[in-house]
Amino acid sequence: LQELDTVGPVIARRITEWLEAPPDVGDVPEVRAGYLTLSKARAALATAAAYRSELRGDLQMHTTWSDGGGSVREMAAAAVLFGHSYIAITDHSKGLKVAGGMNEEELAAQADEIAVVDDETPSLRILHGIEMNLSPSGEGDMDPDALRRLDIVLGSFHSALRITDDQTERYLAALRNPDIHVLGHPRGRMFGRRPGLRADWPRVFDAAAAAGIAVEIDAFPDRQDLQVDVLRIARDSGVTISIGTDAHAPFQFWFVEYGLAAAILAGIERERILNFMEVDELLAWTARRRGR
Ligand SMILES: [Zn+2]
Repeated sequence: LQELDTVGPVIARRITEWLEAPPDVGDVPEVRAGYLTLSKARAALATAAAYRSELRGDLQMHTTWSDGGGSVREMAAAAVLFGHSYIAITDHSKGLKVAGGMNEEELAAQADEIAVVDDETPSLRILHGIEMNLSPSGEGDMDPDALRRLDIVLGSFHSALRITDDQTERYLAALRNPDIHVLGHPRGRMFGRRPGLRADWPRVFDAAAAAGIAVEIDAFPDRQDLQVDVLRIARDSGVTISIGTDAHAPFQFWFVEYGLAAAILAGIERERILNFMEVDELLAWTARRRGR
């Protein structure tokens, strides 16, 4: 234990005591419930190795264009090392000022940079996407013409996330938005901070399936949103699943293990998950929605 950073003899002794005689910690509070630990995630992955070996891409990440720590080029280089064949760059949109959201002009400039890096990186297809901020009434904050030039559009709620009343109507409104392909981190939960929104999930997932919109497993460890028990409800609907790490730095691609493990534990087949598609199949899927 003492080979670990910050574990000295006192803490090592305490951990050993806990392992030998686990203390009663009571029920896990809701705000910390339903999160996979890394050991649980890896145990699930070991039961279904194809989820890791057949994974083709990551569909949510941020760069220095909004609140990420790496440039497009740095994220692309890390994605190649990770073994992805495509990634979607999905920086925040202008309504989320706290995260440095982009306006339409910045989005167009980002498209130029992505095209240059995509040319430099033949083994990786870099898709241009966005994580568009949705208002609590389900509306986006970007010009639809700008969105139509993108490969994939995520729509996510970032406000009024502590409401405890049923939010089914909010989701149904968002799912009527014609511009989005994926509902990002649907519940908006955050480990230790907020338990996330509630809804009539069978109704929400049926509406998403009918609209041709995927729901996301945001694999960022503090989010894990959707989580396993809600994903089991999603499994029983026809809804498509998208996995994104929500990486804010190049080293975070491995967070996808949490998302893959959640899909495995919920019994969601790879055929239902966008990240197992070839890139052309994925782009045909987003184009099909657009053609409605
Ligand atoms: Zn977000």
